[in-house]
Amino acid sequence: KLKNRLTPEAYIEGVLAGDRVILSRAITIIESNLESDKSIARAIIQAILPKSGNSIRIGITGVPGVGKSTFIETFGKHLVAEGNKVAILSIDPSSQRSRGSILGDKTRMEELANLKEAYIRPSASGATLGGVANKTGETMLLCEAAGYNVILIETVGVGQSETAVHGMTDFFLLLMLAGAGDELQGIKKGIMEMADMVVINKADGDNVALSKIAKRQYQNALHIFPMPNSGWSPIVSTASSIKNIGINTVWERIQEFKKLVDTNGYFVKNRKEQQIQWMYTTINEELKQLFYGSDKIANQIKELETAILNSKISPVNAAQRIVEEYKKGF
Ligand code: GDP
Repeated sequence: KLKNRLTPEAYIEGVLAGDRVILSRAITIIESNLESDKSIARAIIQAILPKSGNSIRIGITGVPGVGKSTFIETFGKHLVAEGNKVAILSIDPSSQRSRGSILGDKTRMEELANLKEAYIRPSASGATLGGVANKTGETMLLCEAAGYNVILIETVGVGQSETAVHGMTDFFLLLMLAGAGDELQGIKKGIMEMADMVVINKADGDNVALSKIAKRQYQNALHIFPMPNSGWSPIVSTASSIKNIGINTVWERIQEFKKLVDTNGYFVKNRKEQQIQWMYTTINEELKQLFYGSDKIANQIKELETAILNSKISPVNAAQRIVEEYKKGF
């Protein structure tokens, strides 16, 4: 397997030249958990970093069935028609995706996948959200260095992956359906609060009237939240991904957003904050793995668990003792 590896220079040159085959192979290196690949990955990222960042990064979420893949297919084709190069990535730590579902993803967005200005890469697999998010984040940098100027990062609207996507994107888009009532379709308030734009999808046929009502309801709901630091008040619109209605509006609004945050300085400021945050999140993740990955710690923790259950030691004392023990190892 390792014999198939290129030199770091070959990956770097290929990515910067926009070679899709080499881009895919470089992403495979980023996703790899082999130690030997990790050092190649670091070299690639280090080299392409100055060429990354020249994009708008858009997070897209919504519950399964809301129409995310259909929306991305239509939206992506619109972006390409407007002269953009679009990369579509996803964060889905819940799925153990295999080759089979990569094909599934391509057939989900068949027409888009066939355009040479679009690049679709399904979610990396991995045990932790932090690990998966890191891989998607670095994949995004590679895509930017390869010349993709719009990055769409999709995630399923359940759980913590939204926060991860929000933390690595400039604009956060929430897809919703009309007629789902106050429970907000399992979308938590926190996710609503992250949205720069809510799109009521499937606004076609019998659904048009309901969608207009929903639009007003969500617009009112969003007004309750404090004004975001971006200075952009979140907006609601309706769309039909199947009929290609309202899709151009979404892109127009995103461009208005971009103009605003370029002018008021938020775009650059937010990206800088995200980078610093990314470092801290990764440190937390790596430290946790170091700690819990140690056999010695694992054994002692088991003993401490018993001691706690037998009221021999308090949970806090136990935790402090084991961390003291760990520090001795340095
Ligand atoms: P995802 O699970 O969020 O990716 O949703 P899909 O894109 O797979 O769509 C779920 C179902 O909704 C599919 O049967 C789509 O054909 C349908 N769908 C998606 N967008 C629209 C739309 O704009 N209008 C209508 N009527 N159906 C849609």
